[in-house]
Amino acid sequence: MGDSSIRAPVGSGLSCKGWHQEAALRMLMNNLDPEVAERPDELIVYGGTGKAARNHECYRQIVRTLKRLENDETLLVQSGKPVGVFRTHDEAPRVLISNSQLVPRWATWKEFRRLEELGLTMYGQMTAGSWIYIGTQGILQGTYETFAACAEKHFQGSLAGRFVLTAGLGGMGGAQPLAATMNGGVCLAVEVDESRVRKRVETGYCDRISYDLDEALDLVAGAVAEKKPLSVGLVANIADVMPGIVNRSSGDTSVLPDVVTDQTSAHDLREGYIPSGYTLKEASELRRKDPEKYDHQVLDSMVRHVEAMLELKKRGSAVFDYGNNLRGQVADYRDMHKAFQIPGFVPEFIRPLFCKGAGPFRWAALSGDPNDIRRTDQAVLEIFPDKDHLARWIRKAGEKVHFQGLPARICWLEYGERAELGAHFNELVRKGELKAPVVIGRDHLDTGSVASPNRETEGMRDGSDAIADWPLLNAMLNTACGASWVSLHHGGGVGIGYSIHAGMVCVADGTGSGGRRLQRVLTADPGTGVMRHADAGYEEAVRTARERGVDLPSIQN
Ligand code: NAD
Repeated sequence: MGDSSIRAPVGSGLSCKGWHQEAALRMLMNNLDPEVAERPDELIVYGGTGKAARNHECYRQIVRTLKRLENDETLLVQSGKPVGVFRTHDEAPRVLISNSQLVPRWATWKEFRRLEELGLTMYGQMTAGSWIYIGTQGILQGTYETFAACAEKHFQGSLAGRFVLTAGLGGMGGAQPLAATMNGGVCLAVEVDESRVRKRVETGYCDRISYDLDEALDLVAGAVAEKKPLSVGLVANIADVMPGIVNRSSGDTSVLPDVVTDQTSAHDLREGYIPSGYTLKEASELRRKDPEKYDHQVLDSMVRHVEAMLELKKRGSAVFDYGNNLRGQVADYRDMHKAFQIPGFVPEFIRPLFCKGAGPFRWAALSGDPNDIRRTDQAVLEIFPDKDHLARWIRKAGEKVHFQGLPARICWLEYGERAELGAHFNELVRKGELKAPVVIGRDHLDTGSVASPNRETEGMRDGSDAIADWPLLNAMLNTACGASWVSLHHGGGVGIGYSIHAGMVCVADGTGSGGRRLQRVLTADPGTGVMRHADAGYEEAVRTARERGVDLPSIQN
């Protein structure tokens, strides 16, 4: 039986015994809100098959347990199933979550799927199984920042008059068209599933839909010539469109994209990438009838796709991998190691931010009232008056972002700034300027919380890409600091076997205890990122540690 119309309760009344449990309950439900989740009937939130609970029965048991959980108890969740409640203490996390972990020798998709079929595990992605997904906005700011950094590096700071070619308009990828137009650019986003394009157009993330490549390219060329921001969602398969654009750009350089990337769910061969020549229905039949053949067809398409990306790179487009392990798939299964000539977006654009402890700070208003987010937006502008780039984002987000589920906001903040804003939010709740508590969390794609050699830790200066002690330390420290809930996941973003990462969420409930917990967590959490990057030899991180007083015994401060 499905729970297809799950919605989080809103307002200032409690259905649990404390705000930390209540927040976990509301954010779990919010992850599965039909406005938020990609396939709520299957409990799938985003990112291929990233789920919030193992099955419907487990979901209901989690809800029941959170409602009875005392303020000195902790619920343990094993890959989406509530497995135990233990007495801890009142400033301990109320929930600890472990998702998709496998012993490294067994950490393959094949083994994972076998165990999943037995009902023993689930794929938690990053914020799906850790209950802090906030819809497409979550990735919007990261994508906006990434495109801005790309513009800075390649196009004198603006994408105006630039053609961005990408694919995938799913939960995360759906942010790309708006992030491109917010940077002034013209985006052609290729998506095989018409309903996904429609959803993005309806929610204001994409300007228009097209079914024809010629028409789409005409629209793009017109907007590029006029330097007018425009996004077009083209219903088609990227494995056909990209080679098509390569062919056309041989005779006509005006169709050569300036920026090329991809956000199909390439990390998951079986579920995430539709092979060329198949409708969605045909693809799902083949997947069911002949999964091995299906994988081969997918890989054939991926190879064509990556060949086309490499060719566009050769012709001068700024091509980058956007964290979906497309390169890893063709390298591992087709020996196409040249795919790694395409740079990853983290070393290319994001690492300098990580060195300052910067990352995707997000919050949601448990009141359900959009005015609470407006008040917090105003607080960001008041507290950081000199950060123009941040102010530009907050203002644009206020204008352009349609909330999905509970009203929420995201912005990238550095070490020090996160704790400062958390303390301020707690004050706003205490003074009654917000109608209910606010949850503060982040993506697992953050400075100290992830080991993922094809993505966040690609090309670390000291070669420590695959060292996974760091996210474990991050999760243990956030637990010791008393986050409201803490999670440790495997396989998010890039798939089983490729990453280990941790999440945390902490509630600003307006109390003294809430304030202390926030201060500890929001200092320690980005502090682990400064530590990790300083340890890897990044000067910027060493400088941040020195200036901000992060105590790193092995680093000469
Ligand atoms: P999703 O599964 O919700 O969406 C993927 C979309 O790709 C679907 O709409 C699907 O129809 C489309 N698609 C699949 N094959 C296609 C093809 N051949 N041509 C055109 N469209 C095709 O996933 P998502 O949440 O949007 O995430 C996308 C990818 O990005 C995942 O691999 C995810 O792990 C990764 N990711 C990256 C970041 C980042 O910061 N860069 C963050 C989170 C996730």
